[in-house]
Amino acid sequence: MAPIPGSGLAKGLAVTLRTMTKKSVTAPYPDTQPDLPPRTRGVIGLFEENCTVCMLCARECPDWCIYIDSHKETVPAATPGGRDRSRNVLDRFAIDFSLCMYCGICIEVCPFDALFWSPEFEYAETDIRDLTHERDKLREWMWTVPAPPALDPGAEEPKELAAARKTADKLAAAQAEPQEGES
Ligand code: SF4
Ligand code: SF4
Repeated sequence: MAPIPGSGLAKGLAVTLRTMTKKSVTAPYPDTQPDLPPRTRGVIGLFEENCTVCMLCARECPDWCIYIDSHKETVPAATPGGRDRSRNVLDRFAIDFSLCMYCGICIEVCPFDALFWSPEFEYAETDIRDLTHERDKLREWMWTVPAPPALDPGAEEPKELAAARKTADKLAAAQAEPQEGES
């Protein structure tokens, strides 16, 4: 049977009328900020102090968008007769967010907890070159990284906490001991 002329239009108008009276489900960004989960993958922060320039993140990044430069420095031996050691010093650490696909591999593979997700996402640029964030900018993102979620009350204490407590106790005991020459 042929459709009644104008029935499609009437159906469309009926849908329009129905939805006109309902509350909107879209959030008009940027007037309304999205309510994102705290672990959102927005941008990557670098905690430079933890980075040993092992290059693992740069090697594992599927997009090759992590740029690291470093040089070696000789650290004199701690004890007389000991051997001098060499250590890597970071010269450049940058991430090109125009290439990054937010896979999180760099964060997962970093053995020294130097990279973290921040939920910040408002860093659009009009010049694509500005999407390469150098170490200072990556450090700034660190301050927007949310605190880790609380441990399960029944969970075993992390070994890092036990080790830190042991060191603190040792230091406190050493400080409490009377110094030589003191009565
Ligand atoms: S999130 Fe993935 S693509 Fe982006 S820098 Fe890290 S490893 Fe590379
Ligand atoms: S994997 Fe971690 S420690 Fe190694 S270079 Fe990358 S950020 Fe630094």
